[in-house]
Amino acid sequence: SGYCDANSTFYSKRPTIALPADPNLSVTAFLASRRHSGTTALIDAATGHRLSFAALWRSVAAVATALASPPLSVRKPHVVLLLSPNSVHFPVVSLAVMSLGAVLTTTNPLNTPVEIGRQLADSCPVLAFTTRALIPKLASAPDLRIVLLDDSRRPSDDGRIVATVDEMIATEPDPARTAGAVSQDDTATLLYSSGTTGTSKGVVATHRNLIAMVQIVLNRFKLEDGAEPETFICTVPMFHVFGLVAFATGPLGSGSTVVVLSKFELGEMVRAINEYGATYLPLVPPILVAMANQSRPLPLGRLRRALSGGAPLSREVIEGFREKYPAVEILQGYGLTETTGIGASTDSAEESRRYGTAGMLSPNTEARIVDPDSGAALPVNSTGELWLRGPYVMKEYLKKPEATRTTLVEDGWLRTGDLCYIDEDGYLFVVDRLKELIKYKGYQVAPAELEALLLTHPDIADAAVIPYPDKDAGQIPMAYVVRKDGSNLSEEEVIKFVGRQVAPYKRIRKVAFVSAIPKNPSGKILRKDLVKLATSKL
Ligand code: AMP
Repeated sequence: SGYCDANSTFYSKRPTIALPADPNLSVTAFLASRRHSGTTALIDAATGHRLSFAALWRSVAAVATALASPPLSVRKPHVVLLLSPNSVHFPVVSLAVMSLGAVLTTTNPLNTPVEIGRQLADSCPVLAFTTRALIPKLASAPDLRIVLLDDSRRPSDDGRIVATVDEMIATEPDPARTAGAVSQDDTATLLYSSGTTGTSKGVVATHRNLIAMVQIVLNRFKLEDGAEPETFICTVPMFHVFGLVAFATGPLGSGSTVVVLSKFELGEMVRAINEYGATYLPLVPPILVAMANQSRPLPLGRLRRALSGGAPLSREVIEGFREKYPAVEILQGYGLTETTGIGASTDSAEESRRYGTAGMLSPNTEARIVDPDSGAALPVNSTGELWLRGPYVMKEYLKKPEATRTTLVEDGWLRTGDLCYIDEDGYLFVVDRLKELIKYKGYQVAPAELEALLLTHPDIADAAVIPYPDKDAGQIPMAYVVRKDGSNLSEEEVIKFVGRQVAPYKRIRKVAFVSAIPKNPSGKILRKDLVKLATSKL
């Protein structure tokens, strides 16, 4: 059908998008330059506070000016950490940091101080934006300067606090301070992902990557020039690529309004959908499940589209949701932190009803389906590892040349670690995950991190962590544990030991004891064997 060539390379069937040619362009400048008819950029769902587009861009320029001025003097290639729940300040700060050519890094506020400490040691930020309540999470970096996001006056009790974001927003924008050239090849964001193996790594995404993704988001979500602006409800976390790209950047480039919820809570989400006349709801599958499982349909006002991403969506969930909410179209997106967002998506409810599909390849995308054993590129309807190539594929993992080499191979192909096939019509189906990654409610959990922690327990001789299927969460982390001789360690003790030391979404929720962990001759854990063992009893 013309989209798969003799070398078994698949080409996107969506029309190609022309990307901006100017080599000197930041994603912030690109978004700010877009023409649209929208008026309100952001609404704080809790307070009803509105930020117009004019106020948004003025605030971004003001924060950038304050960042670039002494004493902070933030500039390329400084890294700035944003540790915060969703808020209207999140996009303002992100866009300001990136406008300077400085690098934005984020982390899950649920992470423990130790987990965040590891990321700080790796990314070396010069400054952190955070809230009062989250300051203790920065305990590992006692000298890190802090800008407070949620206090309008600077408290005098903490010498690290150098400013408040409100002070910054009140700064007179000074283009002379913020005018330094930013190239599309400069690093824009450093989000963390465990990739196909091991622990969390910094994913280096450039302005070019983000600009390409913004254009793909605008094109695929039908938000391009002349489109009626939508009202988005932002429940997904802005620290994750899904939130950052689909909300903090894409809609803002189209004149759409983003209603920001600081955290997901079903009742509050429904209230905000109705109060602000939301039309568009991006979400992760567990929220769709919760909505479909209501005994009576929730009132959803003007809502027309729900865009699900981050984890697979089953036929039962799609059907259950459609039955309860016939007026709402379900769309799907598939992507990775390493692809700066969406590598494939469905365009319509019709496409989503090819059950199991994650949609068609994004515009400007090539794909290969590679046999994991032989390395051969496979044709239509054969299952193998999905490789992607496109303008949004990350540059590298920060300071991890080995991990970069095994993930980014041969002329810019990204190995996704997902087992997929592409059918004769060009639809992508995600069959399974080859990589270790566990997704609990859409959050990344890296088995290697939990295994390392389990091995520090005095009664544990060996351990392996695998995904275990769960109706609500998608997957839960399950541990296989080998006790040391003479130990009678219990499931509960293992769960508690890990639970005390990790963020809640990473907790081990099921344990089985075995006499040995199955491994291949080179010592690699045979995870698929353990998954088979665990699920054979279902
Ligand atoms: P993250 O980097 O946190 O976005 O995780 C990326 C991984 O999430 C992908 O490699 C997939 O394993 C999984 N994923 C994301 N979207 C989907 C989807 N629509 N269907 C199935 N798996 C998905």
